[in-house]
Amino acid sequence: MAQSNTVNRRWLLASRPHGAPVLDNFKYETVPIPEPADGELLLRTIYLSLDPYMRGRMNAAESYAAPLQIGDVIVGGTVSVVVKSNHPNYAVGDTVVGYLGWQDYAISNGKFMEKLKGPILNHQSLALGALGMPGLTAYFGLIDIGNPKPGETVVVSAATGAVGSLVGQIAKIKGCYVVGIAGGPEKCRYAVETLGFDKCIDHKDDNMAQLLKEACPKGIDVYFENVGGKVFNAVLDLVNTGARIPICGLISVYNATSYPVGPDRISAYNGKILSKRMRVQGFISTMDYGHRYKEFADAMGQWVFEGKITYREDVTDGLENAPQTLIGLLEGKNFGKVIIKVADK
Ligand code: NDP
Repeated sequence: MAQSNTVNRRWLLASRPHGAPVLDNFKYETVPIPEPADGELLLRTIYLSLDPYMRGRMNAAESYAAPLQIGDVIVGGTVSVVVKSNHPNYAVGDTVVGYLGWQDYAISNGKFMEKLKGPILNHQSLALGALGMPGLTAYFGLIDIGNPKPGETVVVSAATGAVGSLVGQIAKIKGCYVVGIAGGPEKCRYAVETLGFDKCIDHKDDNMAQLLKEACPKGIDVYFENVGGKVFNAVLDLVNTGARIPICGLISVYNATSYPVGPDRISAYNGKILSKRMRVQGFISTMDYGHRYKEFADAMGQWVFEGKITYREDVTDGLENAPQTLIGLLEGKNFGKVIIKVADK
């Protein structure tokens, strides 16, 4: 099932997960490749992005976006090539970034997609990572909400992932002292040796809270929250007055069936927010900062192509492997931005 030239393979939501997703929650099917009508394009997926938010879409509850319905194609960002065009603005062979989901082929009317141009064409999957949605998230979440100043201590969790790895590197460019929190010694070593963080703490170490305290002798000025749970509890004890906490994600509870007890519950949290005059702000990058995409792309594009920002991709071959790979992402098995290579160009 390497790639398909004759049918459209796709993954649907078969049932809603209770806790961690399992393979039975996904249904595989093949259907004929659709034909574009006037004003439409037929796109073939080259790369599919897998991201933690997909877990939320599998639930019935409405969040910032509508939930998937049973039988829907699973949503996802894609890099695709135009294979047929009845649209005046697109030609066969154009490469676009869009949101066409877990399938080989999709029809589009040209809305909500962008043509890739310039050096990114030589590394197209970047449009789903450092130069795409995760990059936008890291850039504005840190700069606009975290507002880091030179010399301040910035802590970021999921530190070697798509978002966290960029947050820490941008904070270093801004002159901050950066501490990552990641799962396991290999990821921590990478954060320091390759990404250039000052320290990295393993959240699987029983002594994590004490190690974080030792790594942050001046307390924490900015905490970029990606995970929640016990990591957040450890951070909360160390925040300085006036700390800023961009709440980007809470992956440790995405598979939870009930909320954990403990200080990350709202009452203790509110007490600390008040006494430390913290600024805690949630954000959805595409909704809050999508209109400033060019500002991000100019700055990040320059850093990436000048080699000032390093990125790592965790690429799995084959659309057939998407469900297992998403399950692994939610367990921390990925190391870098998770991409499914669906087809060769
Ligand atoms: P990552 O590439 O960082 O992958 C997820 C990582 O989360 C895993 O590799 C694992 O890293 C870590 N993780 C998983 N479970 C736990 C746990 N129980 N405790 C601690 N860490 C855990 O994903 P992204 O960079 O794409 O996303 C990071 C966060 O940002 C997510 O919460 C996501 O939902 C959020 N996000 C929010 C956006 C917004 O607009 N607000 C946009 C994009 C992402 P490790 O092995 O190091 O623990």
